Amino acid sequence: MLDLDTTRDRANYSLEDMDRNSLFHPLTPIALHQQNGPKIMAAAQGVRLRDHAGREMLDCSGGLWCVNIGYGRPEIAAAASKAILDLNYWHLFGSSSNEMTIRLADRVLNLLHDHAGARHLKRVFFGTSGSDANDTNYKLVRYYANLRGVPEKRKIISRKGGYHGLTAAAATLTGIEAYHTAWSLPSTDVIHAECPHQYRFGLPGESEAAYCDRLIADIEQIIAREGPETIGAFIAEPIMGTGGVLIPPAGYFERVQKLLDQHDILLIADEVITGFGRTGEWFGSGLFGLKPDLLTLAKGLTSAYFPVSASVVSERIWKVLEAASPEHGPVMHGFTYSGHPVGAAIAMANLDIMESEGMVANSAEVGAYLLENLKARIGDHPYVGDVRGRGLMIGVEFMADRETRKPFAASQNAHRLVANQAVEHGLMVRALPFLEVVAFSPPLCITKSDCDEAVDRFAQALDATTPA
Ligand code: PMP
Repeated sequence: MLDLDTTRDRANYSLEDMDRNSLFHPLTPIALHQQNGPKIMAAAQGVRLRDHAGREMLDCSGGLWCVNIGYGRPEIAAAASKAILDLNYWHLFGSSSNEMTIRLADRVLNLLHDHAGARHLKRVFFGTSGSDANDTNYKLVRYYANLRGVPEKRKIISRKGGYHGLTAAAATLTGIEAYHTAWSLPSTDVIHAECPHQYRFGLPGESEAAYCDRLIADIEQIIAREGPETIGAFIAEPIMGTGGVLIPPAGYFERVQKLLDQHDILLIADEVITGFGRTGEWFGSGLFGLKPDLLTLAKGLTSAYFPVSASVVSERIWKVLEAASPEHGPVMHGFTYSGHPVGAAIAMANLDIMESEGMVANSAEVGAYLLENLKARIGDHPYVGDVRGRGLMIGVEFMADRETRKPFAASQNAHRLVANQAVEHGLMVRALPFLEVVAFSPPLCITKSDCDEAVDRFAQALDATTPA
C-alpha cells in the first residue's frame, strides 16, 4: 500500500490505496481495514451486485436492510432527474414548503392509516436518517413534556439489543454496549429493559407466557423504580433488526401497550427496518396492532435511493404542540435537508413501484418460502441454533452447542466467518453485532428461484466454514 503522507506518489495509485489513504469508514476496525483494504462495490441491478474486481453476488442484505425495491430502477432515475430540474432544493423552515414534500407527507399518513390502522397519526416531520429521526423523537418527548408542564417526565425506556441509530441521542437509545463504551455513552435519562428473545434469554423449560410475564415485570419494575412521573416514552422496534431479528413472545406488545397507557407513557415505534414491507406487512405496527405516539421511518421510504427519514406524530402529541402555539414560539428544531424535494420525489416514485408491483405481498410470500427452505436445508446443521423471521427479515442464529444452547464466544466470530464465506460463494448476507446472527434482508423483489440460489450458496458457505 502506498502511503500518501510520505510519498504523495500517484503513479500506480489504486482505488484501494486511495480509500485507505483518504477514507474514514463507519463500523470498521481501522487496523484490519488498512491491512485488508476496502471491499469496493461497483454496480448493481435488481438483486445482483458486482464488485470492483468483477465478482457477481446475489444480494440478500438489501444493503443495510434498505434497498426494498431492488437496485438500478430507471423510474427512480427519471423521477430524480425531473425533480432536480424542477426544483433541486427548497426547505421547510419558517412555513416554507414544496409540492413533493407536501404530497409525500400526505401519502405516508394515508399508508399508515390504511395499512397499520393508525388513523391517530397526524403529522410528518422529515429528516435524512433513521438516527436523526430518532433524535427528533427523543427531543419531541421532552418538548411534549415541557409543553405539558411536566419537564421531569422525559426518561425513555429502550431495550437491550435495540438499535435506534448512532447520533449521540440515538446511540443512547440503542441498547448494544459495543456502541456505547468507547464514546462514554449512554447518558442518563435512558434505561434499557430486558431483550425479548426467548431462544437465548428464556429459562430452561420456561413457557412463552411465563417468559413474557418476566419481561413485563422487568418493565414494571423500571417504571416503579424510576417513578412513572419521570418516564416519558418507551421505544421499540416491532421486530428487533440489528439485535438479531428478534420476534417478541406472544402478547408482549399488547401488555407493554397497556402498561404504557396506564402510566401515561408514549410509545415510539422504530419502524426504520420494519416499515415499507420488510416483514411482509406494510408496517410492523400493523403486524402487532401497536398504537404508537411517535413512529420512526427511513430506509424503505426511498429504498435508499436518497437519504430521507420521517418522524410521524400522533394526534395526542400534535394537539399539545398546536395548543402551545403561538406563545411558545416556533418549533426550534429541523435540518437543512428536512423535506428535500428531490428526496420526496424519489420516495414517491419508490412507493409507486412498491404499490404497483405488489412488493409487500411478495415479501410475505417469498419470505415465507425462504424461511421454510433455510430451515429445511440448514436447520439441523450442528452450529445452527435457530432460524426465524417474518417476511424478508430473517435471522440465522449460530450456537457452539445447539443441544445446551451454548453460544460461541464473541472472539470466535463464528457468524462473521460464515458471512465472509458466503461472499466467497457469491452471496451477500450480514453478520450482526449483538448476537451470533446472520441476517437475510434481500430486496423485496427477490424471486423464489433467487431464494433457491441463496439457500444453496449459504449451505455451501456453512459447510466450508470451520469454527475458529
Ligand atoms: N433504527 C433502526 C431500527 C435501524 O435499524 C437503524 C439503522 N440500521 C436506525 C434506526 C438508524 O438509521 P440510520 O443508519 O439511517 O441513521
